[in-house]
Amino acid sequence: MSEQANPFESLQEQIDDAAAYVDVSEDVLNRLKHPERGLETNLSVEMDDDSVEVFKAFRSQFNGDRGPYKGGIRYHPGVSRDEVKALSGWMVYKTAIVDIPYGGGKGGIVIDPDDYSDGELERITRSFAEELRPFVGVDKDIPAPDVNTGQREMNWIKDTYETLENTTEPGIITGKAPDSGGSAGRVEATGRSTMLTAREAFDYLDKEIEGASVAVQGYGNAGWIAAKLLHELDANVVAVSDSSGAVYKDGGFNPVDVKNHKNETGSVVGYPSADEEFSNEDLLTLDVDLLVPAALENAIDGDLAQNVQADVIVEAANGPLTPDADDVLAESDTYVFPDILANAGGVTVSYFEWVQNRQRFYWTEERVNEELERIITDAFDKLVETYEDTDAPNMRTAAYVVAIQRVADAYAESGNWP
Ligand code: NAD
Repeated sequence: MSEQANPFESLQEQIDDAAAYVDVSEDVLNRLKHPERGLETNLSVEMDDDSVEVFKAFRSQFNGDRGPYKGGIRYHPGVSRDEVKALSGWMVYKTAIVDIPYGGGKGGIVIDPDDYSDGELERITRSFAEELRPFVGVDKDIPAPDVNTGQREMNWIKDTYETLENTTEPGIITGKAPDSGGSAGRVEATGRSTMLTAREAFDYLDKEIEGASVAVQGYGNAGWIAAKLLHELDANVVAVSDSSGAVYKDGGFNPVDVKNHKNETGSVVGYPSADEEFSNEDLLTLDVDLLVPAALENAIDGDLAQNVQADVIVEAANGPLTPDADDVLAESDTYVFPDILANAGGVTVSYFEWVQNRQRFYWTEERVNEELERIITDAFDKLVETYEDTDAPNMRTAAYVVAIQRVADAYAESGNWP
């Protein structure tokens, strides 16, 4: 992965690229390029051996013009203030393009969770929840899972908040386990919107998804579910990878079997019936019909983009292409369908979870998936309509045009506050 691109600068460049096509003044645009506020804190947590370790943690609240701040919490050694700012900004434009009533936020702890016991992780998570308590709330800021966090961490945060507030308020956080107020379909939602975006993109481009060759970079929640659902559409998942490397199989993998192998061994590498093993970079430059980057930011920079051969890229990860890569691919035959639409299933079903929590009335998985499909296909239609009606150079810019206009309109409609 490229070390150079600063994700916050990438976000600002993406907004600038769209600015020419949006009816919004320079000063409002400037406002939309910076977070409203950020929390930076140091968590002092007792370890199993009685020592105390300090962890840096962040929460960025980027924009709340369309509703409460919304976005995940990431546990990763690479978390930084600028990464959290960028991720919180992408959430603003993601919630806007799928038109759900939220702003954008994001948080993270600088940590490699593999180095800590379950008890230590629980104490670290509860310590962060305590720090977050004044800033979050069911109508203020609603966290969710991201890389290396899931139902377990969300349940701990909910329990810490409810205990300290002496209340029950499951809608304070989403991505919870179903017995703790989670929604049916939430775990699959990000991969599902990636599949739906790919399906709509192939239809729009007059290509067959059935039999299409697919490479998926990153085999975590977003990547493996996308692979599974694309396989169910009879696409041919020929290559998958994780942080240890990539595997290739000409006839295509059964994604469930690969996931079972990863669960047993810790990696997709070593999957017995693979034809070949190679590097992640090789996976990203495979000659496939569809490439799904589903790991982290900056997977494809300008240099690597020169060698990308995929016909279509659907971004399951946040920010996997640098602006330089976008420039290179805009001049090529590769269509890129952007993260803010393709992975918006996660936040959309989080929205459904929050609605259900507030109503204390729970939907079936069938209803969740139907509502999600309607939202993603409507957003896809709006995206391609905007792409065709403007001279936007690529789908990402068209997506930002739709999203920025919605946020700017909400800001304008709320009038001036001194
Ligand atoms: P995850 O932790 O479940 O999985 C991440 C995967 O990426 C793991 O398999 C890991 O081994 C792999 N990986 C890490 N570095 C890699 C590298 N250099 N090359 C190849 N693989 C690598 O995380 P996730 O929840 O699936 O998130 C993945 C991406 O999707 C992130 O960008 C995240 O922000 C985005 N996303 C996730 C959700 C969600 O609901 N989970 C929602 C929206 C966006």
